[in-house]
Amino acid sequence: MKNIPELFGSMVFNDPVMKQRLPKDIYRAFIKTMQQGKHLELDIANVVASAMKEWAVEKGATHFTHWFQPMTGTTAEKHDSFISPTNDGKVIMEFSGKELVRGEPDASSFPSGGLRATFEARGYTVWDTTSYAFIKNGTLCIPTAFCSYSGEALDKKTPLLRSMEAVDKQALRILKLFGNTTAQRVITTVGPEQEYFLIDKEAFLKRPDLIYTGRTLFGARPPKGQELEDHYFGCIKPRVSDFMKELDEELWKLGVYAKTKHNEVAPAQHELAPVFSTTNIATDHNQITMELMKTIANKHGFACLLHEKPFAGVNGSGKHNNWSISTDTGLNLLEPGDTPQDNAQFLLFLVALIKAIDEYQDLMRLSAASAANDHRLGANEAPPAIISMFIGDELKEILDAIEGGTAYKGKEKHDMEIGVMVLPNFPKDSTDRNRTSPFAFTGNKFEFRMLGSTFSIAGPNIVLNTITAEALCQFADILEKSGDFNTDLAALVKKTYSEHKRIIFNGNNYSEEWVAEAQKRGLSNLKTTVDALPKFIEKKSIDLFTKHHVFTESEVNSRYEIMMESYCKTLHIEALTMVDMVKGAIIPSCMDYQRELIDLLRQKKAYGGVSFDCSLEEHFLNSITKLSACLLKKLTALESAVLESSQEREILAQAAFYRDNIFTAMSELRLIVDELETLVARKHWPIPTYAEMLYSVI
Ligand code: ADP
Ligand code: MG
Repeated sequence: MKNIPELFGSMVFNDPVMKQRLPKDIYRAFIKTMQQGKHLELDIANVVASAMKEWAVEKGATHFTHWFQPMTGTTAEKHDSFISPTNDGKVIMEFSGKELVRGEPDASSFPSGGLRATFEARGYTVWDTTSYAFIKNGTLCIPTAFCSYSGEALDKKTPLLRSMEAVDKQALRILKLFGNTTAQRVITTVGPEQEYFLIDKEAFLKRPDLIYTGRTLFGARPPKGQELEDHYFGCIKPRVSDFMKELDEELWKLGVYAKTKHNEVAPAQHELAPVFSTTNIATDHNQITMELMKTIANKHGFACLLHEKPFAGVNGSGKHNNWSISTDTGLNLLEPGDTPQDNAQFLLFLVALIKAIDEYQDLMRLSAASAANDHRLGANEAPPAIISMFIGDELKEILDAIEGGTAYKGKEKHDMEIGVMVLPNFPKDSTDRNRTSPFAFTGNKFEFRMLGSTFSIAGPNIVLNTITAEALCQFADILEKSGDFNTDLAALVKKTYSEHKRIIFNGNNYSEEWVAEAQKRGLSNLKTTVDALPKFIEKKSIDLFTKHHVFTESEVNSRYEIMMESYCKTLHIEALTMVDMVKGAIIPSCMDYQRELIDLLRQKKAYGGVSFDCSLEEHFLNSITKLSACLLKKLTALESAVLESSQEREILAQAAFYRDNIFTAMSELRLIVDELETLVARKHWPIPTYAEMLYSVI
């Protein structure tokens, strides 16, 4: 039995290690700069770097890297060894403060959406001192932010940190109004639940679609899908359990609070959830989790599929972003309090979120948009593309009572008069569960359920933090001027709820009625990524992000370009992969089977004067021949659409072309191939079937 507390964080240059290894004054100076988010002085950085290197070398590290999160959605690293030549032809291990705090990777090969002119390829990585350095695979990884020569963000971390600052600033204004003088900082916290599939590596390697695109582009439905609901929370198979154990241990070593693991709804689907942490750390840790899932799966003979929709017809994978706001003194601001005054503060934060989500529903929607996630949102497995909020019946009754000026009758004993001055006391943990809501209150946090499984959680949290900051800012502007705080507060809660309550929906988000009802309420329904993304560059969005210093206007525009391009490229690669598989594997195997049938027919007919019934062979031969003709038509259609896609178009028109033409042609081609799969003899079918993949792990 391993000593878990000892194992935990053993590969992290964390606070206890720093305390132990840094001279006292340096440690203090470092903590101070970290807390104030200031630049590290070089003399301090030199001492920290040297201690860090010593520690890393003791742990077997030979290299260091500035670990950052470019706009690809994954992480990037370039390793440099610690070695430095000496005069006598030997080497010593060195690491300077300069190398620690700043790097200069070539930025030209990362997506920049036109931000970085091609002549200026330099980019900078700057140590994010709020996230600890750690050792992964013998390399000391230094979490960094990545920006261009002129200071524009080229990564996901920089704007995330900025958005956290925005919430901090505005929430502190509100807390001050409530007389809170102890809180120095307000932080947002996140616990991201990560879903994934595990299939046998051998099967994976035989599927070019999985290798190139992460999802199956073909595949007839297996006889058994998830209809028996026997996988969810089912007993974990020993091979999977071994994988999960190793994953947990490796995550713990890196200081990731891996907590919960279980089987998910679809066959071969699983989930891992950590204990929540600061949004910035949670983002770093989620990236590490996804990376380790892949590498450790490989060691166990699995392929880990993180794609949002690896298999049609069974549930895809998402990532639930559990989010809350709390003070540095540990007070969760989304936790209903014990006193009416605490509850008034809670209700103010609650209506701030109601206002934020209602006013910026489009930004929330687009923060969860990607080509891959389009397969899930709006299907009956994940929240619809319509943003709404679930707050539970009890909270809704309270807010309704406040709005109507009527008495709130709590479910429990307390009957409550709602005066203007005093907001009600109510039982905690009163919310039920609503699994269909995109944004659900779960007692002391909100769960944003639209994220795709491959997402960096940075994007959605940038939006969530910024829109919250904006609502709080507007509230603070009003209340700071108030002469009668309690009266104005109550009026503000009432007015805000009244203006934005259309966003609240406690019913079944999967139902047809909701779509109609949402339309009546004037809520957006941005069905695809191509519908959603243009909202990002509208004035309202740019005003919001620039006001809170989260993005500059050119950063918004560049990110829009990157997301649109990524959408087009994803579909382009999928289309090419389909064409390649059909021509190189599907058609030849159909031909093989046809040849076999023709041979058999010929032999039957030539067989010494006996006349056999050939209807079976003829039936299959006919069906396959007919479908093959269709296949050719659909293949040609897709190929010409791909050709047409190379025409010069404005990026939005290009993305719409991919959605309307390429995607449609792909779906039509798939239908034919899936039908052929049911006709062609299994031994001729060139790729593993759904059943072979979904039930490959025994
Ligand atoms: P469930 O969603 O099934 O109720 P939990 O309540 O355990 O499960 O929480 C799910 C996730 O939410 C976990 O990752 C947990 O750490 C996280 N979480 C709990 N409290 C907070 C919080 N205050 N802020 C952010 N995430 C939280
Ligand atoms: Mg949950």
